[in-house]
Amino acid sequence: MTPAAVWTAVAAAALTALGGLVPRLTPETRSPGDEAGPDALQSQCPTGTLPDNGVCIPVPTREDPGLTPLSAEQNRHRDKLGNWVVYDQIPRRPDRPADYRRYRYPIPPLKSQSLVVSGYDLHMHDADQRRGANLKAIGHGGIDLAQRRNTEVRLVNLEHQVGDADVVFVGEFFGNSVVTRHALREGGQLKEYVVIYGHLGGPAPGLKAGDNVREGSLLGFVGDSGSAGDVHLHLEIRRVRPKVDISQLAGSAIAKSSNSVVCDPRNVLPLKTQ
Ligand SMILES: [Zn+2]
Repeated sequence: MTPAAVWTAVAAAALTALGGLVPRLTPETRSPGDEAGPDALQSQCPTGTLPDNGVCIPVPTREDPGLTPLSAEQNRHRDKLGNWVVYDQIPRRPDRPADYRRYRYPIPPLKSQSLVVSGYDLHMHDADQRRGANLKAIGHGGIDLAQRRNTEVRLVNLEHQVGDADVVFVGEFFGNSVVTRHALREGGQLKEYVVIYGHLGGPAPGLKAGDNVREGSLLGFVGDSGSAGDVHLHLEIRRVRPKVDISQLAGSAIAKSSNSVVCDPRNVLPLKTQ
């Protein structure tokens, strides 16, 4: 499937889960002008919904106190040796737009090319996940954001975040990496998430574990450490397992499945305001 077809399928599945209350836009109901952009579809979606890759999805309710907690689903893929690896992942919530351009990121978008060069694909079937020849690469638990070397990486507060974030790790992980921790209110409970910023040219001067960071705090600079020649920011978001003190862990131990669950970043990244 093309990426667009995948997202449409995912959105359609999500709508089915919602009881099919929102009509799907079929190709037959579209007019030729629809290809001009998402706005052209606006008039075909009922009030309270927005067009998103050919389907009408409910408008995200940013203040909804009854937000349902995200549940992890099991998924699997084959590793380099061809063995099945079973893991948990938190798929995109149905009310969150599929289009990555609707979100705000720790780096500004590139004007000349797509900001997101590789998306979250752990929700896909094994055969559809990103991987190289002979299973050299496995499914992708983050998103890769294109930007120029040395672009500043600055913290964005996540949706439903409570209080400031703090730095839990600075060091070698996905190349030079920084990891921040955020408490989010979900279903009346506080859940802990970590955000991993990978392949940095380097962290912000003096940044260290334990530092408090808030919206706009400088975390580091875009680079290609651990991905030589491929300058980008790897942005990965994971929910910390209950009773795990993530601040006591370093590097890849943070992303171990027993310590944290990988999450579609669109569930918690802030939406653009307009
Ligand atoms: Zn990546």
